[in-house]
Amino acid sequence: MQDLKKLDQPLSSFVQVFDQPIKGEGKSPLAGSAIAIKDNICIKGKTITCASKILAGHKAVYNATVIDKLKAAGLVIVGTTNLDEFAFGSSTENSCYGPTKNPWDLTRVPGGSSGGSAAAVAARLVPFALGSDTGGSIRQPAAFCGVVGFKPTYGRVSRYGLIAFGSSLDQIGPLTTNFSDCAELLNIISGHDPKDSTSAFLETPDFTKSLKVPVKEIKVGLPKEYFSQGLDAQVKEAISSTADILKKKKVIFKEISLPHSRYAVATYYIIASSEASSNLQRFDGVRYGLRAVTKSLADLYARTRQQGFGLEAKRRIFLGTYSLSSGYYDAYYLKALKVRRLIKSDFDKAFEEVDAVLTPTSPTVAFKLGERVKDPLSMYLSDVYTIPANLSGLPAVSFPCGFDKQGLPIGAQLISRAFDEETLIKLGSAFEESTDFHKQIPVFKEK
Ligand code: GLN
Repeated sequence: MQDLKKLDQPLSSFVQVFDQPIKGEGKSPLAGSAIAIKDNICIKGKTITCASKILAGHKAVYNATVIDKLKAAGLVIVGTTNLDEFAFGSSTENSCYGPTKNPWDLTRVPGGSSGGSAAAVAARLVPFALGSDTGGSIRQPAAFCGVVGFKPTYGRVSRYGLIAFGSSLDQIGPLTTNFSDCAELLNIISGHDPKDSTSAFLETPDFTKSLKVPVKEIKVGLPKEYFSQGLDAQVKEAISSTADILKKKKVIFKEISLPHSRYAVATYYIIASSEASSNLQRFDGVRYGLRAVTKSLADLYARTRQQGFGLEAKRRIFLGTYSLSSGYYDAYYLKALKVRRLIKSDFDKAFEEVDAVLTPTSPTVAFKLGERVKDPLSMYLSDVYTIPANLSGLPAVSFPCGFDKQGLPIGAQLISRAFDEETLIKLGSAFEESTDFHKQIPVFKEK
């Protein structure tokens, strides 16, 4: 395991490499393979920090359901990966450990918040990793690092043991180098869990059956609103080539409209921050991690939170507490819930005509470290295309679909109907069959 630590030095994708990896006992096609886990998913007996000082030294007292499932499938858990504090961010720069670097260009961000997981997989330090996605945190770093990142339907995978950010949006999902590994991992982690009241009572299909099957006559929509202002020309070009490759396999494309998606970022930041402000109330110096030295109880809460939370976490708490406060609840939180419904209804309408939607994953390729830290709005906008799927609970995947002129990976996103992950795997693996973007391996350098 010393090797892994050493190999990771240029990237800092790991928070912790375990001296003794956790070896699962069980059989599955992935048994014996190594996996890394985002440091916001509980592994019993191991420190869990969410990259926040407030959890310093806290050890998880139980396994997340996904961890039990990985162990039962015989996987080997080798360590935990870096993230934006409590998954707040799009660059893995909001981490108390410092940023993770993008393996394609060490002067750039890996995306976020699951940037550690994406970078580790892209650099082939591990064959796969788990991340969590509240507004794009699996897909956007997958796009920036050139790997496959899958956000399952809300309810497909248990959230038990995932430290909650936005409980109505969060899903755990895999980051892999190809669709075959992605399907295998989805088989392992999916399924109803009595410990998560929002997990769906559904049989898990065998997702590997959707690999390498004909995609003839699958209908895919291109939402016109997603190809306008703010989209980098080279990213746009790569998405239209993606459509061309699928057209050769007789996939049928048509233009569709998702008119309310333009309100998605604003809606998301009200809802996600409201839920986050509520979820973070438990970190008060009494039960977990950091405890400030003070004389009174009220002071203990205040100082622990003041010392323990980073800037972005504080921003979310302010925003969320404000939107939920009695004078502003109707104007902000309630309004956002109504707009969320409209965004979802657009998808319902689109899925009367098409089986999936193709979009860019992010408007640009990976940006430079430090470039957006001081401008939260520009950071938030890197998730314009991923957020609607979380607000609507829909499954979505980002996969490598090209490189820009500087050799930086570009990701394409496919979104499908609730619990129709299979269509995404069919289309994605068909695309993969005709291309080799997913086979490119980064050579660490500064561009
Ligand atoms: N970047 C988005 C945010 O900062 C999404 C994060 C996530 O999916 N966890 O909230």
